[in-house]
Amino acid sequence: MRNGHWNQDELIAWLYGVGPEDGHLDSCGECRAKAERLQSRMTEARMAEPDVHPAFLARQRRSVLDRIAGGAPSPARWLATAAVAAMLLMAVALQSPSPQPEALTASSADTELFEDVFNTVAWAEPEAVAPLYGLFERSGEVSR
Ligand SMILES: [Zn+2]
Repeated sequence: MRNGHWNQDELIAWLYGVGPEDGHLDSCGECRAKAERLQSRMTEARMAEPDVHPAFLARQRRSVLDRIAGGAPSPARWLATAAVAAMLLMAVALQSPSPQPEALTASSADTELFEDVFNTVAWAEPEAVAPLYGLFERSGEVSR
């Protein structure tokens, strides 16, 4: 058991329900009076109305409602409107008919050129790989 009265920290801790539980308040009238004074002040503070004038709250509410109803458009709204307009213009531009492509006619010289280019491009393996094929059996060519 401790000797002496509770200090201010112990009284505040008791007020918030985490104080010492040594039963001192039951036996000491002086500490009980201090604790009851603190408790009544805390109750008054909790019950007190906030110090805000009702006219201020009414003005604030009116301003919020005015903004929701649509006041002056903000820069963000202008930007969104411009973006939508640009997208609409682009959609219209992409929907307009494009000129029909002319029919392609290739002469025999062009056809040979295209075949040569295709064969060159389609051969993906470098020429240095060719000797390596001699080292391996190809599937389907089983020697007996
Ligand atoms: Zn005491």
